[in-house]
Amino acid sequence: MSENTQTKAPTVYANVIVDISVDKLDKTFQYLVPPELMENIAVGVQVDIPFGKRIITGYVIELTDQPEWDVERIRPLLGIRKGSVAIESQLIALAGWMRRNYGSTMNQALKTVIPIKQKTKSVEKRSVELLLPETRARAKLALYESKHSKAKARLLRELIGQQVLDYGLVTQKLNVSAATIRAMEQENILAVHSTASYRNPVAHLTKQEYHKILNEEQQRVVDEVSLDMDRGNPQTYLLQGVTGSGKTEVYMELIARVLEKGQQAIVLIPEIALTYQTVMRFYNRFGDRVSIMNSRLSGGERYDQFERAKAGDIDIMIGPRSALFTPFERLGLIIIDEEHENSYKSETAPRYHAREVAIQRARMNRASVILGSATPSVDSFYQVEQGNYRLLTLTERVDHKPLPECEIVDMRKELMEGNRSILSVRLQELMEDRLNKGQQIMLFLNRRGLSGFLSCRACGYVVKCPHCDVSLSLHQGHRMICHYCGYEEPEPQVCPSCGSKYLGSFKAGTQRIEELVQKRFPSARIMRMDFDTTRAKDSYEKILSAFANQEADILIGTQMIVKGHDFSNVTLVGVLAADMSLHVSDFHAAERTFQLLTQAVGRAGRGRQPGQAVIQTYDPENYAIVAARNQDYRAFYDKEIAYRYMMSYPPVWNMLVVHCTGAVLEKVEETADLVAELLKKQVVERAFRIHVVGPADAAVAKVNDVYRKVVYLKGEQYEELVQMKDALENYCQSQNAFSGALIQFDFNPATGF
Ligand code: ADP
Ligand code: ZN
Ligand code: ZN
Repeated sequence: MSENTQTKAPTVYANVIVDISVDKLDKTFQYLVPPELMENIAVGVQVDIPFGKRIITGYVIELTDQPEWDVERIRPLLGIRKGSVAIESQLIALAGWMRRNYGSTMNQALKTVIPIKQKTKSVEKRSVELLLPETRARAKLALYESKHSKAKARLLRELIGQQVLDYGLVTQKLNVSAATIRAMEQENILAVHSTASYRNPVAHLTKQEYHKILNEEQQRVVDEVSLDMDRGNPQTYLLQGVTGSGKTEVYMELIARVLEKGQQAIVLIPEIALTYQTVMRFYNRFGDRVSIMNSRLSGGERYDQFERAKAGDIDIMIGPRSALFTPFERLGLIIIDEEHENSYKSETAPRYHAREVAIQRARMNRASVILGSATPSVDSFYQVEQGNYRLLTLTERVDHKPLPECEIVDMRKELMEGNRSILSVRLQELMEDRLNKGQQIMLFLNRRGLSGFLSCRACGYVVKCPHCDVSLSLHQGHRMICHYCGYEEPEPQVCPSCGSKYLGSFKAGTQRIEELVQKRFPSARIMRMDFDTTRAKDSYEKILSAFANQEADILIGTQMIVKGHDFSNVTLVGVLAADMSLHVSDFHAAERTFQLLTQAVGRAGRGRQPGQAVIQTYDPENYAIVAARNQDYRAFYDKEIAYRYMMSYPPVWNMLVVHCTGAVLEKVEETADLVAELLKKQVVERAFRIHVVGPADAAVAKVNDVYRKVVYLKGEQYEELVQMKDALENYCQSQNAFSGALIQFDFNPATGF
């Protein structure tokens, strides 16, 4: 054998983009990587390329051994740019990492990571300034209040505190219309300024006023993280702090330290918790160095925000998932608040989890990551146990406010004793008491589980899959189906456990509950918050602020109401049908239930009066419910992780779901069968520790005339699952197979499928 053939390096081609704007992202040019550049070539690096007769620079977005055209005509790269790594390089490298780890096209990954440049003119920045001295402003405020000019009063009240407010903040977060602002401008109460005067709208703020002195626990957490930062040893931390323990103050203190070093910070907050209250806390402390992002921003506005970040106009970006890609050059800290939230998982390709991408981005920047929650995800706590994240805790509410007292009511007993109402006798009693005292009540309807599980109202029995230990869902034609493995059985007529005929799926919606509660308490003022009442823009925030202003006695709502505002007058929380979310066909069911219940219970007693909570359930001994009552995270986690071990579910093992979708059922079925067969063969060939299960119907088997089938893989090693994904992708490309169905990947899914 000649030495020459043995060491011959494979030919590598680089796909390069020359312009980072959205219509050019898919326009790549291919170059040969010459041997002397092989060592330093990587996705994201800036390269010099021959382009027509010129030499220009571009970014490598992909390395491949597949030439895209005539090999003879592919020209070599000229060189790799050295020196400081541009932020674009870093984001492109991140996109490359996401493409490989989550499965998507490079173009999809790039579009996720790089803001969309549009040709629209940048939006003018405006601010609103108070023109009256304080005494006169207060007199005016009293007048507005007496005339019930609520929007005007709201704006004026805020202006008295701040003097100057961002125009967008006023319209989007304070819900004051442009017409109202104009009217007040005409009254010479305020003035609207544009860009030039915007720069520093809150510089005059007396920051001290908002600067809380941290308590001992908070200080300890801040010290620990800053010490690691100062030593140049950034880590990922899980900050577990009960609701109201002052996590946000800790975040702000750490951000202040990062800014002192000339670095920048990203704060992720689920959109639903990104309320005016929350945003103002950051504004009050950091002024106009803060910017907010939300999904209502247009592509152009989002692009502008990113440009401001790149230009160094801001140091802190607050927003949902996508704020993670803010192009800060000197990123020092990423905070993910409410890290257990599902909304951090993208539901379109690449289906990334913000937590994992944050850690990856932080690694590139040597930045720290803080994951905060009162009820950490099982995934994150597992990482703590594995030694990958450091645990920090805040064990007490600020000012030693007690956590609410919580009791469980067994609804099977209520039925036995002849109470068929949705409200238990105990809950009615407590509601009566609070209404008499003029205190407020929240009723939380757990509606996560509406995907049609069957349960017995007499004994609480739930029909489950014998193989997967998740609930079966009721489908058309009285069939019970498992979405994990395809197992199927007919719908039982009586309870298989106790023979009762009270077997059914719980269907009452919030509207029905509102009617029932109103009938029981005719003089109570009730507000309702659900998908119907919050469809209109900003109605979510309107309902919450109205309830905070005590315009109603009872707020009835779905999981939406467990987030956001602090209601100081709420002293009773009732949870209706706590077990609903236990029985969705999803291995996270118990985890979601524990989180929802704990957060719901935590809404009570935020003010001066202590709080109380009642959890109604058909399954009073369930560990998720008992642990939520006791506010005992550890007890819950220990049981839950044992279940995950037993079933080889994430985070102990990893899961990859392959979605097959298409308009023609036969094609989708054919594809899903082929996918399963192919994957099973690969697993055997490579001797991987992976189980391939399915194909099965997706949780919703048909949406908008698109049929959906899933094949799922459980594997010990994430990397082996990535290789299976790659194998399937390669097969699709090389065979031009699966033309009748679209294939997508979802690693460690956040919800049922
Ligand atoms: P969490 O984010 O953990 O729910 P917050 O940071 O919102 O808690 O704090 C709860 C409340 O306690 C807020 O009103 C906050 O202003 C207040 N608070 C937090 N830390 C302190 C402190 N050290 N001193 C006084 N009040 C504080
Ligand atoms: Zn029964
Ligand atoms: Zn099953």
